[in-house]
Amino acid sequence: MIIAIIDGYTDEPAGLGVPPYLGIYPRYAYGAIKKARKDATIFYLTIDDLRFTFGGEQGIKTKNKTPNVFETRKILKKADLIVYIGGLHTPGKYLSAVPSQVDEVARFMKPFAGVKILGGPAFMGSAHEGGTKICSKELALANQVFDYIAYGDLEAFLYDFLTNPRDADPHRFRTYDELRDYALLGGEVVKQFPDYPDFVIVEIETQRGCPKAVGIGGCSFCTEPLRYRTVQNRPIEDIVKEIEVLYSLGVRHFRIGRQSCIFSYMAKPNGRVPIPNPEALEKLFRSIGNVAPKLKTLHVDNANPAVIANYPEESTQIAKTLIKYGTPGNVVAFGLESADPKVAKLNNLNATAEETYEAVKILNEVGAKRGYNGMPWLLPGINILFGLLGETKKSYEITFQFLKRLLDDGLLVRRINIRQVVIFPGTPLWYMKEKVKIEKHKKLIKHYKYRIRHEIDFPMLQRLVPVGTVLREVRAEVYDNGLTYGRQIGSYPLIVGMPKPVELNRFYDILIVGHGFRSITGIPLPVDINKESSKVLRHLPGIGKKNVIRILSRRPFKSEKEFLDIIEERYRALYRGRITLRQNL
Ligand code: SF4
Repeated sequence: MIIAIIDGYTDEPAGLGVPPYLGIYPRYAYGAIKKARKDATIFYLTIDDLRFTFGGEQGIKTKNKTPNVFETRKILKKADLIVYIGGLHTPGKYLSAVPSQVDEVARFMKPFAGVKILGGPAFMGSAHEGGTKICSKELALANQVFDYIAYGDLEAFLYDFLTNPRDADPHRFRTYDELRDYALLGGEVVKQFPDYPDFVIVEIETQRGCPKAVGIGGCSFCTEPLRYRTVQNRPIEDIVKEIEVLYSLGVRHFRIGRQSCIFSYMAKPNGRVPIPNPEALEKLFRSIGNVAPKLKTLHVDNANPAVIANYPEESTQIAKTLIKYGTPGNVVAFGLESADPKVAKLNNLNATAEETYEAVKILNEVGAKRGYNGMPWLLPGINILFGLLGETKKSYEITFQFLKRLLDDGLLVRRINIRQVVIFPGTPLWYMKEKVKIEKHKKLIKHYKYRIRHEIDFPMLQRLVPVGTVLREVRAEVYDNGLTYGRQIGSYPLIVGMPKPVELNRFYDILIVGHGFRSITGIPLPVDINKESSKVLRHLPGIGKKNVIRILSRRPFKSEKEFLDIIEERYRALYRGRITLRQNL
């Protein structure tokens, strides 16, 4: 039996599966198939393989494995079963891989005869940008194209379908007991992932459902409580075993990211704010360290600031655990969404602005120190959502002033993520969609986005990674118009633009030389002063446009000292041991 899994990539509130992230869905699907049918030959393809093969509009400039067009076509032709995984609920900006939608994949899949199954959050629809309502056309199309749509867990349906098709129920959810084997068997699919082995980061599940939603109901826009009405914590042993398998296959980057709040893992239910369980997190992360001693990245994703603010002692202990066993550059994203208390109430948001401020402060106290890869150890990120119910002109100003206060008080926030709400069927917002004023507030949203980028993000970025900081292990990922873009591997890595072409898919240590609103400019080290172009030299601190001519006329320099002598004294330390002086010009 030949089975093709097509990864259309997934991005949802509590889970990421866009390369270099390998999400949970393809792994679990692969594992369920393996368990059900030992004779199955399973191929993992990405939507980029299909785009490349069938001429879609999205090219693949950056993959480190060139897709084999003949193979992709052959696999799909021969496949008895084609499983498509997709769903984009929290659209963002993507550096290289762009998630797909059902209409795109429908075009590619039409000619193939295999039984077609749709899995992942795509059954609820997808949104390529914020500020939209999910349209029923996409869902109708999914019904036409696919023979089955897994409304429950794809892995549960696949197992049933392959062992007892007559009774397979696409609405069935699996338990963590059932998941155990799927997760362990499914790790192997990573070997077919384009970024394997050096660049892949694997998203690991710890929990499903939202503890806050169980206590007082979900946030008005969120799909997580719709899918999972209770909270289930995945057993520590199962998480650790899965990581052990992936580690033995060569994976070195992990994000313990598939959860709505890492600080609420194994927490005691307690209405709106569960009581955190630092011992469970200590055990989890210590055990991960034991089975993956040479891991390079261990990060997390979401946290509810209300939990941190209301349980500062326990949360400080958890933050220290994340630092002790994790790696620098770690970020916990706080879903503040709006600082306006009226909007917070109407949309049943999870934390107040005051709680979020407290949580930012607590994480700064524990995690703001710079780590060995150049980034602070553990910082908060803040999610803002525009277009919520009850927003007025004043709401935008209140949120702006809240963010400004963080900046003015000298706190660090790794990133402010501004999205516009996407209205999904079944969410509380769906039933009040007529009251949402996205269109009416379009200009206001644009105005405040601009202000936040210019007046907060820019100075925050300068504070976060000042000129002269060295970021270690930045992977060069995309080359575009004379610039190379790269990032470290981890949760919310900073995009670094290099003003020259460099070999892609290699790691570089980068000297930070300038800031944009959401990205930074850097030069790979060591800087070859005798060889670099004037375009690169003028970015260097202490050289700039003025000194470039002087440097060019004095080249070749014979020693570091000779070069340092013409640099202003305050910049010299930046260059000691970081330049080369090749003589063969
Ligand atoms: S806190 Fe709100 S946004 Fe976060 S998972 Fe729960 S319901 Fe969704």
